[in-house]
Amino acid sequence: MSKVLIVGAGGVGGVVAHKCAQNREVFTDILLASRTLSRCEKIQKEIEELQGRKIRITQVDADDVKQTVALLQKEKPALLINVALPYQDLPLMDACLAAGVPYLDTANYEPPDVAKFEYSWQWAYQERYQKAGLMALLGSGFDPGVTNVFCAYAQKHLFDEIHTVDILDCNGGSHGHPFATNFNPEINLREITQNGRYWEDGEWKETKPLEQHFPFDYPGVGERESYLLYHEELESLVKNIRGLKRIRFYMTFGQEYLTHLRVLGNIGMTRIDPVEFQGHKIVPIQFLKALLPDPSSLGATYTGKTSIGCLIEGVKNGKPRKVFIYNICDHAECWKEVRSQAISYTTGVPAVVGATMMLQGLWKKPGVFNMEQLDPDPFLDELAKRGLPWHVKEL
Ligand code: NDP
Repeated sequence: MSKVLIVGAGGVGGVVAHKCAQNREVFTDILLASRTLSRCEKIQKEIEELQGRKIRITQVDADDVKQTVALLQKEKPALLINVALPYQDLPLMDACLAAGVPYLDTANYEPPDVAKFEYSWQWAYQERYQKAGLMALLGSGFDPGVTNVFCAYAQKHLFDEIHTVDILDCNGGSHGHPFATNFNPEINLREITQNGRYWEDGEWKETKPLEQHFPFDYPGVGERESYLLYHEELESLVKNIRGLKRIRFYMTFGQEYLTHLRVLGNIGMTRIDPVEFQGHKIVPIQFLKALLPDPSSLGATYTGKTSIGCLIEGVKNGKPRKVFIYNICDHAECWKEVRSQAISYTTGVPAVVGATMMLQGLWKKPGVFNMEQLDPDPFLDELAKRGLPWHVKEL
């Protein structure tokens, strides 16, 4: 019997609200809050049609801590699920502390004016959450999220020592637009246009953006060129996976996407600093976001599959071992079930599974946690039941 407050009514917020609505035993009262009420209304209507359940909605500006605290004090939810943008992580963590409500998110904090993401800002809340007896679960999406849990599962069951991890993220689907991003365009383009970074032999190594790449044969999709990026789960996995010698993250991109990205970068459209335009200051990447398709609108025409997993090498019982732990998700199936594409679906489902772990007391400790610090078994059981079956392929 739990009341949950979901903040953010975008592509991921919609999936989270639908999946909570499907699980009547755990989520007995669902409140969806976002900056723009009309987006909550649209999701509310779809949930009534598809899941046969009425959720409650309200407007909130999550940048305004006082406003969120007032909402939390009035509603007294058992958990706040933050699926707004990474910029809102710290104000929402502050509001949860002030109102005594546990917290969960899917992406780590980024300051709006610097394209830089790292856990330091959120890890700094450790003592305050411990003292308040509250739990904050960080990065409960797919990557970060499920990929961290795959590593924890490998550490617990499959290996005595893990030497290398390559996280491999493939979207083998097609949305029919010449150029679109699958989640918030501003956050997505900031991530891709940064220098690449990976960890090897105890130190971080840098590459130019998308400089290092190789082809990988993804189950359910086939061979795709995969490009090295820096991704936030590397930072926590380096700390929490014992004996690790190297960890990298790769994502696939088609040539059409890369050509658009190069042109947009060359002409300054991915800049995050304000420029003067007809007497106004505008941030080019925010203007670009306004022109690009809304990620939550892509689902209707999306075909194909995502295939995301962890390629892990190490030693078990004195012998070398190599496995790929992965999930395949079909865009069109996601549309039928919750009116979304697979990227939002593979993020939203783990957020709801993480919430279920916290609300059922299976994951319940005061403090700030990354996913791999908790027992992977109940999470992975629930994940498979809630729409994301996973597999281990011995290589
Ligand atoms: P969208 O841009 O589609 O949605 C974001 C939502 O947050 C919008 O409804 C937006 O409102 C709302 N919002 C923004 N600012 C505020 C605010 N100040 N107060 C209240 N609501 C606000 O993004 P996505 O749904 O694609 O992504 C959501 C999150 O999921 C992001 O943090 C993203 O980084 C993360 N993510 C994580 C992944 C993972 O695997 N771990 C993968 C993909 C995404 P409005 O409509 O007014 O703009």
